[in-house]
Amino acid sequence: MKRTKVVDALQCTEYGTAINVKGWVRSHRNSKAVDFIALNDGSTINNIQVVVDPETIDAETLKSITTGACISVIGTLVQSQGAGQTVEVQSKEIEIYGLCPSDYPMQKKGQSFEYMRKYAHLRLRTNTFGAVFRIRHNMAIAIHQYFHEHGFHYFHTPIITASDAEGAGEMFQVTTLDLERTGKGPVPYEKDFFGKKTSLTVSGQLEGELGATALGAIYTFGPTFRAENSNTPRHLAEFWMIEPEVAFLDKEELMDLEEDFIKYCVQWALDNCKDDLAFLNKMIDKTLIETLESVVKERFVRLTYAEGIDILEAAVKQGHRFEFPITGWGMDFSSEHERYLVEEHFKRPVIMTDYPSEIKAFYMKKNPDGKTMQGTDVLFPRIGEIIGGSVREEDYGKLVHEIEARGMEKESYNWYLDTRKYGSCPHAGFGLGFERLILFVTGMQNIRDVIPFPRTPKTAEF
Ligand code: ATP
Ligand code: MG
Ligand code: MG
Ligand code: MG
Repeated sequence: MKRTKVVDALQCTEYGTAINVKGWVRSHRNSKAVDFIALNDGSTINNIQVVVDPETIDAETLKSITTGACISVIGTLVQSQGAGQTVEVQSKEIEIYGLCPSDYPMQKKGQSFEYMRKYAHLRLRTNTFGAVFRIRHNMAIAIHQYFHEHGFHYFHTPIITASDAEGAGEMFQVTTLDLERTGKGPVPYEKDFFGKKTSLTVSGQLEGELGATALGAIYTFGPTFRAENSNTPRHLAEFWMIEPEVAFLDKEELMDLEEDFIKYCVQWALDNCKDDLAFLNKMIDKTLIETLESVVKERFVRLTYAEGIDILEAAVKQGHRFEFPITGWGMDFSSEHERYLVEEHFKRPVIMTDYPSEIKAFYMKKNPDGKTMQGTDVLFPRIGEIIGGSVREEDYGKLVHEIEARGMEKESYNWYLDTRKYGSCPHAGFGLGFERLILFVTGMQNIRDVIPFPRTPKTAEF
């Protein structure tokens, strides 16, 4: 018999028809006359209730169907009397695919996230992680949909690269293993990537600029690697980044794009992930849906770095204590500072612009004052920096000057400089951390809990 997904079975109103549902047991309880099995197949957060008449199944077999077991049920779809569900399946026949022994690590409800991180391979089967990863899927679709609708081309930049886009030296080197034959047998040794020094990409931006200066508007969406030994709830060593890059875009238009894009994604979640959001709103953050709705409605605050510093200095004068001191012009904001601005001062997202050039990357276009640059970072409640963006320096001479002033090797950027040498155009773009967006949309607290298999200095089990 053809299987019906739980998500479809729950919508079905053809009562009395035969149905086959398959999935993993979420719970099994017995009352006097019947047993109730809550079944979930990952297609929705909601379980379908299977009602089992003990007369229809051998008692030992029925008892063996515990939380986590995988079964197939053939039965009749009936209207449910139970609260919170419309249909249930009256079982006629149960086939067991896989029993689940009592040492199943996800058996107990309400385990801590820290505990569950040890079982990244099994936590996927819990309600919370099911909700998070269905939302993650939906966000990926929203991103492609947004850019497709707005005439951007999906552009693939290399994972193995010789350029350090951020100039921060946080790169994983790529090596190949070779074997040296010795008297004691073959000994493995590391070699460069076919004689060249290469690394895993920290950002697809520089290559993305090549795309934008040919195709007009592109976006990348791929894995990104940073060898930063930071054990914060906002950093991963392997994360996914979305990087649109657009020709002929100025700073104001860039900010409009950043704001419009995030709002589109959040609205997409509100429209397409209703059940999962309702679950997370109940279990993780009681203000989640309200927060998402207000982000879509409100205009983001736009302020300069200098104004940001003024606000933080005023806060200190009024007695606010920051862990990292406010040292004035030239300081980089820590996430604590960013969160003060968005959560306590403005109480909504902020786009911060015109940072001092020296704290930002070499490719950002300077303002005429020679001190500040046309950066546009988006700061979000609960997250801090969610987007880092800027107008790019399009002047060949100025860019070469900046590369040399920072002691970078000009020769290794010649391919990049060619975009400025031949038919240079004004352009701008940004990078958004996919997991930070998912953190915001799901209400989860730790970035390790919004990617299926987190890679951090302390979590990379397999
Ligand atoms: P942060 O200040 O939080 O370390 P950044 O300024 O180093 O971020 P950018 O180089 O501007 O980051 O990268 C663009 C975006 O990528 C960031 O705004 C953030 O959303 C995301 N991002 C950066 N580093 C990480 C990381 N290690 N893990 C997850 N997301 C990241
Ligand atoms: Mg960083
Ligand atoms: Mg930053
Ligand atoms: Mg940044």
